[in-house]
Amino acid sequence: MPRFESFASILALSAALSGQAAAEEVNIYSSRHYDTDEQLYGEFTEKTGIVVNRIEGDADELIARMVAEGQNSPADVFVAVDTSRMERAKNAGILQPVESAVLEERIPGKLQDAENEWFGFSQRARVIFYDKDRVAEPPLTYAALADPAYKGLVCIRSSTNTYNQTLLASIIEHEGAEKAKAWAAGVVANMARDPQGGDTDQLRGLVSGECGIAVSNTYYFARAIRTEVEGVSSDIDRIGWVFPDQDGNGAHVNLSGAGVAAHAPHREAAVAFLEYLASDSAQVYFSHGNDEYPAVAGVPQAESVEKLGPFKADEVSLSAVAKNIPQAQEIFNEVGWE
Ligand code: FE
Repeated sequence: MPRFESFASILALSAALSGQAAAEEVNIYSSRHYDTDEQLYGEFTEKTGIVVNRIEGDADELIARMVAEGQNSPADVFVAVDTSRMERAKNAGILQPVESAVLEERIPGKLQDAENEWFGFSQRARVIFYDKDRVAEPPLTYAALADPAYKGLVCIRSSTNTYNQTLLASIIEHEGAEKAKAWAAGVVANMARDPQGGDTDQLRGLVSGECGIAVSNTYYFARAIRTEVEGVSSDIDRIGWVFPDQDGNGAHVNLSGAGVAAHAPHREAAVAFLEYLASDSAQVYFSHGNDEYPAVAGVPQAESVEKLGPFKADEVSLSAVAKNIPQAQEIFNEVGWE
């Protein structure tokens, strides 16, 4: 029997047992957990009367759980960060297509799965940071990260990281597999150290002097602007940033997204929740809570994000990019990117 950790679901259950009409509910399996997401769920219930029950966990564990639960899964909505995780969920068969005029209109096409099984609700750019004291002429493109001029300077996390997988998948989409492989080999040759830690650790490497150039998602840096992040904020003025490929395809942008579960027992409530995520007020919570860019045009950006300045984003469809992820993983293995 599925176990729900929320008080609200116990109330709903006891109401059902005592013969009263149970409140409408929606069961969300989420691997995204930021404090402001609480406000998001609260506001949805306030607006719709639909009670939100939440199971949180690692994305791959939640996918495995939904697969194991099969047709009896109580999951209505799956939420995860990164295109590769949403695509993994789709390929595992745990999502279903959603036809929604609201989502079609509000969410840019490039942030939607081609079969409408997942939608992106916030965006993060993967960009180049550098130590201004050490690197006078930073790389202006992803390609330049592989330029021998930057030998021994580049810090970037491991190839098991989904952000790097999606980035390489986008390079495959634009340049083809052969060039993508040469690029990955060039980056490995330029590494300042073996890949280690998360994106914040790459930024810390700039401050500690271990790295001259670091690749990170924008929100890790914006967070260090907004609040004290140990090892970054204290010396943040020394860090410069480049939105890559501004004269070309634009900077690579990834998403945080959601989809309706394949066997959702509350399908209508699940679609209503996704449509709510695309509303202006939800967009503010969803993106600002983690210093991300809203998915919906015209929604104001967080102040910390605003400070990074405007940039040209890659307009490639993330659904098309996602198809290259298995090949990206192969390339990482072939070139010895740990
Ligand atoms: Fe992250």
